[in-house]
Amino acid sequence: VIQIAVAGLASAAISSLAYRVRSLTTSGAFAAFVVGTVMFGVGGLSAAAVLLTFFITGSLLSRLGAERKRNLADWGKQGARDARQVLANGGVATVCIALHSVAGTTLFGAFCGALAAATADTWATEIGTLSSRARSILTWRPVTRGESGGISLLGTSAQIAGAAVIAAVSVGVHLAPFWPVLAGGVVGGFFDSILGATAQALRWCPQCNRRCETNPHTACGSQTMMLRGLRWIDNDAVNFLATLCGATIAVLALSCRH
Ligand SMILES: [Zn+2]
Repeated sequence: VIQIAVAGLASAAISSLAYRVRSLTTSGAFAAFVVGTVMFGVGGLSAAAVLLTFFITGSLLSRLGAERKRNLADWGKQGARDARQVLANGGVATVCIALHSVAGTTLFGAFCGALAAATADTWATEIGTLSSRARSILTWRPVTRGESGGISLLGTSAQIAGAAVIAAVSVGVHLAPFWPVLAGGVVGGFFDSILGATAQALRWCPQCNRRCETNPHTACGSQTMMLRGLRWIDNDAVNFLATLCGATIAVLALSCRH
């Protein structure tokens, strides 16, 4: 009970701080409070260290090169995170940590793998969008900076580095070994890009004559038309599936070791 109370207080403090520096919206801060309380409360300081590494590096990197990232609004990847975005990135990890007492410590690996995938994708997006040479992961054609499914040397390097940092922290706090977590993060990150180039809704704004991923278009408020993908698969859905992939790969890699 004391651990849950401490977890709740710490999560409330961090969520409200993130709200004040505009990393989270009101709904995002509430979701982060719930996610944080479950993770700290059930997983203790070890789980908190992994979660905070994801959260703090992501918040700091989003401030990098703000000028060059202005067009990211077209792709719904700019500004404070709302509840949907928080759950898309942290939902799978929260369920993994909550179930570990019934399903065993393999789920600690799944927890780390899910957060490694979320971190890999965040680092790839926040650093990769500073590069102007993004190409489609499927067709290798040049794509607009920030467009889902686009990869670049800079972004892919950041993706691997982000997964490696989470893997290193996971080892440091004795939650999971390095390689399975790294594999979960890197594969989850690539899965994110592949879904972004295929299933994710790509839209067209007739007013601005350009592609985007939001409806209505964030820039002008006009209704946008579907160009590719599935209507209901947006960036949040893709992030959720990528973290699920990261958790699965980490569990598979862990079971191969035994
Ligand atoms: Zn528009």
